[in-house]
Amino acid sequence: MLPRLIFTFLLLSSSLWADVTLVRDGKAQAVIVTPEKPTRVVSYAAAELARHVEKACGVKLEIVSESTAKSGPRIFIGPCRESGVDTEKLAPESCVLRVTDAAVFIAGNDGGGDPLDTDTRAGTLWGVYEWLERDLGVRWLWPGELGTHVPKTVTIIAKSRDETIEPRFFRRHIRPGLGFESEHPALGFTKQAAEQFAKEQSVFMRRHRMGRSYPVSYGHAFTDWWEKDGKEHPEWFQMLDGGKRGPKKKDGRFSMCVSNAELQREIVKRWTEKRGAGNTNSCFINACENDILGLCACENCRALDGPAPADYLTYYPPTSKMAGSRFVSDRYAQFWLGIQKQAPAGATVVGYAYFNYFSAPTSGIKLNSNILIGYCPSAGWFPRSEAEHAWMKQQWTGWRETGARLFMRTNHLLDGYCMPFLFTRQFTDEFHHAVKHGMVATDYDSLTGHWATQGPCLYTAFRLHTRPEASADELLAEYCAAFGKAAPQVRLYFDHWEAYTTQSREKLATTMETLQTSRWRNWAKAAHAIYPPECFKAPEKMLEAAAKAVADDAEAAARVKFLQLGLQHAKLCARVSAQLTLADSTASNEEIKRILGELLAFRRAHERSGISNFNHLAWVEDLSWKLSEETKQTPDLYP
Ligand SMILES: [Zn+2]
Repeated sequence: MLPRLIFTFLLLSSSLWADVTLVRDGKAQAVIVTPEKPTRVVSYAAAELARHVEKACGVKLEIVSESTAKSGPRIFIGPCRESGVDTEKLAPESCVLRVTDAAVFIAGNDGGGDPLDTDTRAGTLWGVYEWLERDLGVRWLWPGELGTHVPKTVTIIAKSRDETIEPRFFRRHIRPGLGFESEHPALGFTKQAAEQFAKEQSVFMRRHRMGRSYPVSYGHAFTDWWEKDGKEHPEWFQMLDGGKRGPKKKDGRFSMCVSNAELQREIVKRWTEKRGAGNTNSCFINACENDILGLCACENCRALDGPAPADYLTYYPPTSKMAGSRFVSDRYAQFWLGIQKQAPAGATVVGYAYFNYFSAPTSGIKLNSNILIGYCPSAGWFPRSEAEHAWMKQQWTGWRETGARLFMRTNHLLDGYCMPFLFTRQFTDEFHHAVKHGMVATDYDSLTGHWATQGPCLYTAFRLHTRPEASADELLAEYCAAFGKAAPQVRLYFDHWEAYTTQSREKLATTMETLQTSRWRNWAKAAHAIYPPECFKAPEKMLEAAAKAVADDAEAAARVKFLQLGLQHAKLCARVSAQLTLADSTASNEEIKRILGELLAFRRAHERSGISNFNHLAWVEDLSWKLSEETKQTPDLYP
């Protein structure tokens, strides 16, 4: 009796759990099967699977509908009858990934929209990407074909597994940075190049599963309230030191009188009305303060403030808006709690921890999970000193200890212009800290897209969204491995620049202060001071060595060339910065034209390479450089 039982068990388990061969020795063994009427997400997921398999082994797997699929190994994509998965009942964006002895099932919770729209739920697509990463070793280094790393093989096997995979964060977002506009468009992309850049980047972002499980919107919430309500309800708005309510000067920014209970009630009332009218943002009440410090000087607001921590202003430059500000985190925590208490069950209040209410509260206030706080420091740029980095993390932990849920809403990715400016390790450490302490979503502002000079940092930022526990070293190794035999040289190269960035910390801070330069807006005023010509010499040699190592590997050689182009371009930009910086340029219109000549020619020649988002650069350079009328023309006509 016993042997028979064992035999049955073995038989059962072998039929349930077995690898499936999809391609053997360069010949297709399997077909891809979709439902009779696939959604756009499912069709796209099937095409993505076929595309990557073909890139791996040169074999194009056929895509057929369920009714026409013959027997043999099959890869079922989406809610096929055969899969028996009720995808509607899966958690948003989650996916079943099941491999039995003759079939692979990838079926997830999807929406009906455009698969490239980050608002479309795409669990099935996430399942395909998960499988491509795990069983095919695919890595998406940067947007476009060259950045798509698919190890070559002749045989592809789907390893046996049965899992349901759910995204770790309900929203995964790095703002795409595709809307930058400049008064000097000739410095940016031509229309066609911009379209290509945008398309490839959108594809890339979805490959890294950027998107969200349900709609949520927030942002500076009360910007038009003074105009609408200032006359009738001045008491809802900040009180200035003299007792006057509202903005300091006409049309100026203002904050709210957040202790005002009637204001809190009004926020819930307006949200309820909008919700009744079919507002899709139905679970989230936007209570993010306007883009200004919390300034209300009324007695009630002040009474809510906790004691200011001793290090409250330590990490802000003396010229920062924060200088001399009052610490008001506790009043904002009370504000969000006040709104949340009046809101119906299930509603979540969203606020930003920002400016003088960024530091964690000190009154001991307890919030709850129906309050969602965006961690939005107005300082803390990378690279940080160890003490500053520790302080930044403490603020996260402090807010987390109130019981609120937190999401990452930093602006630090806007830093660095197109220079080889890298802070992968500290960024990863901050991400890890946040994950360990309850991070539920991300919303980084913004992706600037300088893939050839800042690649490893950007890659890591994306990859952490699906591999949140991976170390910076693991992810850097993954990135460099795609350069084949040049991996050690490429690693050395980027380690060099990361060390350079770290060592430049003090210089960066003082230069930015002296030249009155913003980290996110006009970096090109100072690029030459941080990146003088001599700093490029050793790294150029490193890339030459990398190129030599892969002379017999066309793909790896092209990737090294991509890095070289990025470096060449960065060097050019730093040189132009030295001559045109608004800090002290005296160049005449004729000289400006001459100085920009080489840079513009380079950008026209390489605008399809994907090395950089030139439109972001045009936006930065507009406020950084002395320019003339010439570059106000469209790039198609100039030079
Ligand atoms: Zn007040």
